[in-house]
Amino acid sequence: MAQCPHCLRTDEQVKNGKTAAGSQLYRCKVCRRKYTPEPQAHGYDQATRQRAIRLALDGNSQRQAARHAGVSHGSLANWLKQYADELPTTLPLPDQPVEVAEQDELFTFLGEKKTKSTS
Ligand SMILES: [Zn+2]
Repeated sequence: MAQCPHCLRTDEQVKNGKTAAGSQLYRCKVCRRKYTPEPQAHGYDQATRQRAIRLALDGNSQRQAARHAGVSHGSLANWLKQYADELPTTLPLPDQPVEVAEQDELFTFLGEKKTKSTS
C-alpha cells in the first residue's frame, strides 16, 4: 500500500504515471504532492540494508531475511558478502575506532594507486 512520505497518510493515494526511471509515481490527494513509494532495486536506504543483514545474521535464511526486510534476494546476498569482507580480522582496540582505521587504509590504498598510475 502506498503511503505519503509528506503527511504519512495511506488513504487518498492515487497512481500518477511513472518516473523516467520507470518507478511508479503516486499522488497524495491530501497534500497534493507526488512521490515514489518504491525506490529502484539498487536504491535501498542504509536502514533497510542494515535490517536485512541483521535478519540474515539472526538465523533466518537469506530468502526469509530478504522477504521480511522487503528487499530482493540478490541484493541481500551482495550485502552479506560485502559485510563479511568488511569484518575486521582482529578486534579493534577500544581506543582505536574502526572508522579511523578504515579511513587510513583507504588513504594508503589511494596513495599507492596514484603513485603507480603516474609512474
Ligand atoms: Zn500527503
